[in-house]
Amino acid sequence: MSELQQSLRQAIEKICARFGDDYWLKRDSDGKFPEEFYRALADDGWLGVCIPQDFGGSGLGIGEAAVMMETIAASGAGFSGASAVHMNIFGLNPVAVYGTPEQKKRMLPPIAAGKAKACFAVTEPNAGLETGKLQTRAERRGDRYVINGAKIWISTAQVADRMLILARSAPIEAGRRPTDGLSLFYTALDRRFVEVREIDKMGRKAVDSNALFIDGLEVPVADRIGEEGRGFEYILHGLNPERILVAAEAIGLGRAALARATAYAKERVVFGRPIGQNQAIQHPLAECWMELEAADLMMLKAAWQYDHGLPCAPAANAAKYLAAEAGFKACQTAIATHGGYGYAKEYHVERYFREMMIPKLAPVSPQLILCFIAEKVLGLPRSY
Ligand SMILES: Cc1cc2nc3c(=O)[nH]c(=O)nc-3n(C[C@H](O)[C@H](O)[C@H](O)COP(=O)(O)OP(=O)(O)OC[C@H]3O[C@@H](n4cnc5c(N)ncnc54)[C@H](O)[C@@H]3O)c2cc1C
Repeated sequence: MSELQQSLRQAIEKICARFGDDYWLKRDSDGKFPEEFYRALADDGWLGVCIPQDFGGSGLGIGEAAVMMETIAASGAGFSGASAVHMNIFGLNPVAVYGTPEQKKRMLPPIAAGKAKACFAVTEPNAGLETGKLQTRAERRGDRYVINGAKIWISTAQVADRMLILARSAPIEAGRRPTDGLSLFYTALDRRFVEVREIDKMGRKAVDSNALFIDGLEVPVADRIGEEGRGFEYILHGLNPERILVAAEAIGLGRAALARATAYAKERVVFGRPIGQNQAIQHPLAECWMELEAADLMMLKAAWQYDHGLPCAPAANAAKYLAAEAGFKACQTAIATHGGYGYAKEYHVERYFREMMIPKLAPVSPQLILCFIAEKVLGLPRSY
């Protein structure tokens, strides 16, 4: 890690130390958005870590953002903490890259300052991972678009006041590829025209995920990012960095689980000795350490490639896959190490385990990553 990254890590650790495991356990049971935590990062200027300096951010790279997100998750904040700020950190990349100067000036500073909260609305009930099948329509009427449709799993839509949304502005048959004809908008989440219905889910209760029912939402043309019909391309540009950040978050949470398991293995005495003296306890923990380190290296490689303008898709996808697997194994091992206590909420590892399912499933599934590596790296025929 560079000196900058090391000092960044220390600064974030200092903030996270104010929000211990008990804070996150409470948020996990009451489901309240961790506003104090969000505010603490915003007040010290961390939400704009990747936003260009001209627009209120620090203009740092994805490598620095990854260190930040890993540190947040590793503090025990897990995905409750990381997902609360994830969208501020890199979500508005399409605006930073493809927005007009007027849009950047209008849209980026409130996100960097933590004055606006945004959600990212892509997934749809009838499309799943097949983005080309998105059905939500954006119909042009003079200087506005009118959006109608439904989205699913949209995180932070309960607290967000803006949304980055992908919608179909031309019929699927009109384009060369199914992903042609999708347009991207960053606009107000006007609840008069968008019903936001929370999904009761397995973990990360403090950061909501929702079904959105959009009925006649008017969006000014000035809120369209880039050209009409090219929204999918703009989203694609941000997918690799998103995978890198999710990998960093999974590694962080895996490390939090490993730290708890190791501490417990040292102090729990059964049969007259600490359980950590048994190889059957030690070896899985040692494996978790190695696998988390290896995933971390892949993640840092992907971040380095991205920050140096090099192709990074294989490494970014591999990092997301390996980090989710390693993190999941660490959480599972942490529960096993705690024995029955691992199942009790007050030992925290069951919460980590539930949250660790998220990077296994989203933003892309492990199966689709394997398909990507098989096809794009190994040159095997496309299987779907
Ligand atoms: C907690 C959480 C938060 C989320 N937040 C957001 C958000 O903020 N914004 C947003 O837009 N989305 C969000 N998502 C959605 C997430 O990105 C999707 O759930 C994910 O992309 C998978 O889509 P799906 O659930 O419809 O799965 P499906 O597409 O229905 O796939 C189901 C399963 O089938 C497998 N499968 C499908 N096709 C193939 C194939 N050809 N070969 C092999 N396997 C295949 C998949 O790998 C998967 O395991 C979130 C999801 C979760 C769980």
